[in-house]
Amino acid sequence: MLVIAVTGGIGSGKSTVAELFKEKGIPIIDTDQISRELVQPGSPLLQQIISEFGQEYLDAKGHLKRKDLGRLIFANTSARDKLENLLHPAIHSEVVKRLKKISSPYCLILIPLLARSKQLYPYDRILVVDTPPDLQIQRTTTRDHLDPDYVRQIIATQPSRDDLLELADDVLDNSGDHNILKAAVDRIHQQYLELAKQRS
Ligand code: ADP
Repeated sequence: MLVIAVTGGIGSGKSTVAELFKEKGIPIIDTDQISRELVQPGSPLLQQIISEFGQEYLDAKGHLKRKDLGRLIFANTSARDKLENLLHPAIHSEVVKRLKKISSPYCLILIPLLARSKQLYPYDRILVVDTPPDLQIQRTTTRDHLDPDYVRQIIATQPSRDDLLELADDVLDNSGDHNILKAAVDRIHQQYLELAKQRS
C-alpha cells in the first residue's frame, strides 16, 4: 500500500484536505487524534507526561490540560522536545498497528509535526498543504477565535513554508476557495491511484 504523509502549518487546511480524501473512501490515520486518545485519563502515557511536567497540567477530572501544556511548549523548546520524545514513540506504534489493518490502494497519515519527526514515521511520499501565512492566520483566527498575534507566534515556532516545500514530494495549493481545493484533491487522488497501481 502506498502511504502518504500529509503535513502543513496550523490552519493550512490539513483537516479539510483529509475530509476530501475521506469522501473518496481513502483511509486516514490522524496522529493528532491518536495523541488525544493516548492521553485519556488514567493512561500510562498521561502519567509519564504528568510526572515530567507536574500535576498542574491535570484538571479535576484527570484530563490533560492540553491548552496549558501547549502554551508551555510554545515558550520553551526543551519542554517541547521532552513532550515530543514522550509522544512520538507511542504515536508511532499506534500508526504501525493501524497501517496493518488497512486495505486500500493508498492511505494518508496526517502528521502536523512531520518536519521535526521525519525519520520516525513510515511513509512513501510527503504531501504538503501549502497556504500563504496571511491566509493561515485569517482562517485559524476565524476557526479557533484566537488572537492573530498568538497565531503568528505559533506559526513562528513551526517549520517555515520554505522548509515544508523543500520536504514535499507533492504540494496542494490551498490559497484558493473550497472548489479549487477540491479539484486539486481530485487530481492528486488520480495520481496516487496510478502510482499505487504501478507499485502493485
Ligand atoms: P489545519 O487542519 O491545517 O489546521 P483546517 O483544515 O482546519 O486546517 O483549516 C483551517 C480553517 O480554514 C478551517 O476552518 C477550514 O474550514 C478553513 N479552510 C480550509 N481550506 C479553506 C479554503 N480553501 N477556503 C476557505 N476556508 C478554508
